[in-house]
This record gives sequence, structure tokens and C-alpha cells, in this order.
Amino acid sequence: MIVTLSETAAILASAQRIVITAHQNPDGDAIGSSLGLMHILRSLGKEALVLLDDDIPAIFSVLPGYDIIGRPELERTVEADLLVVLDTAMDRTGDVLQAVHAEHILNIDHHQTNDGSAEYSYIAPTRAATAEIIYDLMHELPVHLDKAMAMCIYTGLATDSGFFRFSNTTSHTMRAAAELLDHGVEPNVISEALEQKPYQTVRDIGEAIERAELFADGHAAGIFLDAETTARMKSTESFIGMIRVIEGVDIAVVLKTKEEGICRVSMRSKGLDVSAIAVQFGGGGHTRAAGCTLLMSFEEAKRTICEAISQAIRAYHCQGAK
Ligand code: 5GP
Ligand code: MN
Repeated sequence: MIVTLSETAAILASAQRIVITAHQNPDGDAIGSSLGLMHILRSLGKEALVLLDDDIPAIFSVLPGYDIIGRPELERTVEADLLVVLDTAMDRTGDVLQAVHAEHILNIDHHQTNDGSAEYSYIAPTRAATAEIIYDLMHELPVHLDKAMAMCIYTGLATDSGFFRFSNTTSHTMRAAAELLDHGVEPNVISEALEQKPYQTVRDIGEAIERAELFADGHAAGIFLDAETTARMKSTESFIGMIRVIEGVDIAVVLKTKEEGICRVSMRSKGLDVSAIAVQFGGGGHTRAAGCTLLMSFEEAKRTICEAISQAIRAYHCQGAK
């Protein structure tokens, strides 16, 4: 059932024991919006905890609350009045749905591909980040914005908007960020913490760039990593940004082979709807940033995604778009 922002605030206000979760492979928005909401709810005297079914990258240790993020344990179920699922539909939360016995479920997301099928869904695709929705919610509740909330919400805003550069950045995003700065956020502290990379990761970026391939007549660029290479490379997050900038490229893609038969695909575009490509394979996302998982061999996955991207580019250029 789709609910409004004020109904979402009322659902939160009426619960006492609340578990918050977000998607696996958590990014700055998943972690920032989860911790931001946790701080807000705790300031209202509620029992709120964050459970994420994945490792949390150490760069996020700059965020207050990082140390108390828990993992779901199937042997020890958690009873709650409300489970809040952030920054994803219900499908990418791993073991959390099984490990939490909640009376009600509330899904808060900004992905246009979210079908709103949760018990309660608040979906705002015009918001750059789920954290921007948490900011909106904060104004619906009797909360005094503090530095911990502000740092977490700012991190979600900044990371999902490419530090306020992507097309999802609106004047509302900027006004929200301004208010967060007024409450103690130091943008340099956050960006310096998030930009830290091990030496080996910087070397891996070099190798990944060497491997970059152009296809679809130069309208697409890809980095394709087989199982051996994926296992060797610890962090591949920054690869896609490196090839997105190639002149003439409409779509950038990075394919990783998590294990033989399981390939993760990330796509970015300069306007073409990559979420429509991701949806073809059971994934989703936004117009300009989307992803999916292909359950096939590395070679087959590479061929499949290149074909789908080439076809989308052909259709796009046939429509007369430049
Ligand atoms: P990334 O490439 O950074 O993993 O993901 C880009 C965007 O697409 C993010 O907003 C992410 O939430 C979404 N996305 C990535 N993979 C999937 C997927 O498998 N399913 C869905 N529904 N969304 C995804
Ligand atoms: Mn997000």
C-alpha cells in the first residue's frame, strides 16, 4: 500500500521497537539513511537498531553508529513492531526478512523501479537519495537535528548525487545539505574519509582501465572481470566512474564474476534509461544508474549484457536522440 510522507512519519511514530535495514552490498546511501533514521528514532526515545546482511566497508567508520550496525542471525530472531526497509525494494535484504519478526513492514525508497508492493511503501523517485527522504521525514517528526543525524544523512545525499554533480541533484538536495552543514557536517571530513583507498585498489584501477573495451560503435564502454580477476580485486566500486567519462560513450558497464555462474552488472548512462535494461534481467535502479545479477557463465553474461546494451543504444539513436 502506497502511503504519504506524513503517513510514513505516523507509522514510525506509532512503533516502539524498530529494526532498520537496507540493501546488500550497502553504499553510502544505504548506510547513511539507515544510521540517520536510527539516530532520529532514538532521539524520540525508541528502540531502534540497524541490521545489514553484508560487510560494511571501513570507509564508513567516520559515521556515528557505524560500530553498532548488526548482522541478521537466523538462529536468533529479533521481535519488532516495525521493520523499515530502506533504499531498495524487499528483494535485496538478504536474511533480514527471515531474522526479524515484525508486526508491520515499511519500505522507503527512491528507486523508480520499486513496485510499491510492501505492506506500506513510500517511494519518491525525485529524491536524489533515500537519505533525502529521511531528511524530509525528520521535518515531519518532533526531532532536533543533531550532528550525528546530519553526518549520516549528508553521506547518503553526497554519495548518491556524486557529491552534488549528478542530474538527480535538485535545489531541495542542496537546501537539505545546507541545513546539515549548519548542524555540524564538515564536508571535507566526510569526503576525505570516503575517498580513502588501499594502495592495491589504486593499482587495480590501473589494471581495470587497461582492460576497458569499447563496443556498440564506441557508444558503450565496459570492464569485464572473470572470476579469477574479481576475486583478486578487493574493491571495484570506482571502476565505472573511470569509463563513464569516455567521449562518445552513452553507457558504461562493469561486470564482475562473484563466483562462476553469478555475475554482477553495474551500468551508468548519460541519459539513456539503463534501469529498463536492468529490469529485463530482474534488476533495477534509476534512469542513469542501474544494476542486475546474471546467473550465467562469465562469457555468456558478457555476451548477454553487451547485446542488451547495444540494442538499447540502437533504439535510442534510431529515435533521433543524439
Ligand atoms: P550499482 O551499480 O551502484 O550497484 O547500482 C546502481 C543503482 O542500481 C543503485 O541505485 C542500485 O540500488 C540499483 N541496483 C543495482 N543492482 C540492482 C539489482 O540487482 N536490483 C535492483 N532492483 N536494483 C539494483
Ligand atoms: Mn540510494
